[in-house]
Amino acid sequence: MANVNAEIGVIGGSGFYSFLEDVTEIQVETPYGAPSDSLFLGEAAGRKVAFLPRHGRGHDLPPHRINYRANLWALRSVGVRQVLGPCAVGGLRPEYGPGTLLVPDQLVDRTKSRAQTYFDGEPRADGVVPKVVHTTFADPYCPAGRSAALKAAQGRAWEAVDGGTMVVIEGPRFSTRAESRWHASAGWSVVGMTGHPEAVLARELALCYTSLALVTDLDAGTETGDGVSHTEVMRVFGEKVGQLREVLFDVVGALPSNGERDCLCTQAHDGWDLGFELP
Ligand SMILES: [Zn+2]
Repeated sequence: MANVNAEIGVIGGSGFYSFLEDVTEIQVETPYGAPSDSLFLGEAAGRKVAFLPRHGRGHDLPPHRINYRANLWALRSVGVRQVLGPCAVGGLRPEYGPGTLLVPDQLVDRTKSRAQTYFDGEPRADGVVPKVVHTTFADPYCPAGRSAALKAAQGRAWEAVDGGTMVVIEGPRFSTRAESRWHASAGWSVVGMTGHPEAVLARELALCYTSLALVTDLDAGTETGDGVSHTEVMRVFGEKVGQLREVLFDVVGALPSNGERDCLCTQAHDGWDLGFELP
């Protein structure tokens, strides 16, 4: 297979991979098991892209059962060094209503049951024993990727919110009103279910990671109706997915080449013995 390498990874819903041309589907195994689905390798905006449907192509994986470690590992193993993570979120402020695009600069982890590190000191299935390493994560997102995302949205006449905090909950249920009010009162911006541990695992593999959060609803504590419904989320997402796909296409074209990256993401563990080779 000639096309089995990529430089940019996109982890998203199945509405996204129609922007790829000359698609090759490959299955990748990792020391952490299988990723959510095959990788779909192809070209977009003149760049080699690997697309991975986060929930599987049939959307049969809930957020807490996604094998995040296998997903990031698989992407890196085909050459990916920069990852874009579009996701659907709830707005925690009235001004962030449905259709808002937000490029967060911070996250808060409120998940409960997810494997969220490669550096757990536990032997892997292949016998390799990763070291215990503490990763710097003060700024969880890639500054170059964020800047490219904001510019791309502006270029498509969709002014994105520059920065904000995404709180990631375990799900799959939506928040209670009390939880939602608490998240909002803490000053956080949007709430999602998949942004963690995706971002930290990317950092642990020295990948650049950028989140593009599409608000599909106002969260329970922010609105006055019956609360968030899955149907409403899917409706808004369906309306905006085409526009988000166009923005993603432009971000892909605007990212630096892997060799030109000069952000701190690339130096996450310079000089550290990880106990294993990065793929
Ligand atoms: Zn970076």
